[in-house]
Amino acid sequence: MKSYIKFLGTSAADFKLLRATDCADRFDKNARRASCMMIGESILIDCGMHVLDSIRIARIDTSKITDVFVTHFHADHFNREHLEAIAEGKPNPVRLWCRQDTAFESFKNVEIIRMEEGVYYHVSKDINAMSVYANHEDSAFPNHFLFNVNGKKVLYATDGAWMLARTHQILKKKNIDIYVADATCGDYEGDYRFAEHNSIPMLRLMIPSLKTAGIIHDNTQILLTHIAPSLHKPHDEIQSSVEADGMTVAYDGMIIEL
Ligand SMILES: [Zn+2]
Ligand SMILES: [Zn+2]
Repeated sequence: MKSYIKFLGTSAADFKLLRATDCADRFDKNARRASCMMIGESILIDCGMHVLDSIRIARIDTSKITDVFVTHFHADHFNREHLEAIAEGKPNPVRLWCRQDTAFESFKNVEIIRMEEGVYYHVSKDINAMSVYANHEDSAFPNHFLFNVNGKKVLYATDGAWMLARTHQILKKKNIDIYVADATCGDYEGDYRFAEHNSIPMLRLMIPSLKTAGIIHDNTQILLTHIAPSLHKPHDEIQSSVEADGMTVAYDGMIIEL
């Protein structure tokens, strides 16, 4: 079977514009849920406050989820009860993958794997994964994940602004095929969040440098996620403003074949 990634949520933490009442049972490009993504049917990246709704809408069989990668421990990316609900009743514990220095207590039916920075871990027959540090609030143990899925490299890089020097050292010449980028802030300058989140102008500056460093290549798919509804225009308008820059705005329910 062909591998794929599937976005279950593409929003930042400002849900006040989420019209939960008129999209309770469907995805809507302008009513995004908290950022999370599946790789195939067994790997979930992040499990924040909306994850169970997203799983229900996408008709995902939770019994097949074996691994949960947590980018960091902010509430829009991690919810203890939801993690334990996904793990409940499984014959084997769900594996929770996180940054090497993460400190927290244990969870029911969950095996915690603290990943050494910059080292590929074998996840399943076709998938390896690596943790790299992210530029985001340190107390949330932020990291990005580089997945190698059947030879295709997918970097899941939210939350976090720019790229840390140590992460650049690890990722240079990796020639990533799919770069999922933090695009919290919209197409304007001067936002105060520049030290923890990207804006569209920041991404425009970064992309040529990422190519120079060999982190991405000319045909890399650049997918924007963690879109803050209050800082962005409607989906179609964002998409037309970034199209010429070779970027695609992800949306809840979007599937990309690998
Ligand atoms: Zn977030
Ligand atoms: Zn965060």
